[in-house]
This record gives sequence, structure tokens and C-alpha cells, in this order.
Amino acid sequence: MPSYDPNNIFAKILRGELPAYKVYEDDRTLAFLDIMPQATGHTLVIPKAPARNMLDAAPDDLAYVVKIAQKIAKTAMSVFAADGLTLIQFNEPAAGQTVYHLHVHVIPRKEGVPLRPHGTYKEEPSVLADQAAKLAAALKSA
Ligand code: 5GP
Repeated sequence: MPSYDPNNIFAKILRGELPAYKVYEDDRTLAFLDIMPQATGHTLVIPKAPARNMLDAAPDDLAYVVKIAQKIAKTAMSVFAADGLTLIQFNEPAAGQTVYHLHVHVIPRKEGVPLRPHGTYKEEPSVLADQAAKLAAALKSA
């Protein structure tokens, strides 16, 4: 497996070199909206510690990312009036990974609405900004 590349997009978001629709941050994780959501409220949770994916992540970092994914999942269910929740995590190109910093996809689901294909639909910035503000506000009191 290749080593971690500190110039990946999510590392640049962590360093503040690229913008993101942030919804949650603590000393070990950052969560922000996916700009190509597969459903409304599609959020990515990443560790601040460098890891290419779950195969090279420190077990504690991986566990903490999942803990925060659960917190975001519960809040997103309510904010986006979802009926269900899909969690996805890809490892290496053969599995569909395209950004090489560990991330968990938290995707609210509506009954009977299929997921859009991965990385095919770019959401309007104003829509993402509005959704991020609502989810971030709810997470502050979660
Ligand atoms: P992967 O295939 O690696 O699991 O997913 C990477 C995800 O990152 C995709 O769902 C894609 O839409 C999302 N993505 C790619 N570039 C950016 C970006 O610049 N900002 C955000 N917020 N998401 C991105």
C-alpha cells in the first residue's frame, strides 16, 4: 500500500488551505459536508491524525472516528428528517476510494430514495452552506 500523501484534499482542508462546509470539530476529528452528496446531508468524518484509510490507521483513531460518526448520524437523522442512515468507508482504489485520507461517509436516507452514484452530483454551494449551518447548530447542542 502506498504511504500517506500529505497533499491530499482532506489534509489541505485540515490545514485550512482549502475551504469546507464544516459541521463538527474537536481535537481529534473534523466533519464536513461532501460537496458531491449521494443524499441530502451526506457528511464526511475524518481523523486529524494522518492515515490513508482504515488499513494504516491507529486503532484508537479509527474507533474515535466511528464514535463521532455515530454522534453525527444521530443528529443528522433528526436535522434532515431521515428514515435511515448509511455508513460507508472505502479502502484503496480497488474498493472505490478516491481521496487518500481516512474518512467515513455518514449518509442520511429517506424511505424509497436510492443513493445517487458516488461522486456524480455536485450540490449548489448555497444549499451546502445552509445544510452545514443547520447540522452544525444541532451538533453544538447534541
Ligand atoms: P472516497 O471515494 O474516497 O470514499 O470519497 C471521497 C469523497 O470526497 C467523495 O464522496 C467526494 O464527493 C468527496 N470530495 C471530493 N473532493 C472533495 C472536496 O474538495 N470537498 C469535499 N467536502 N468533499 C470532496
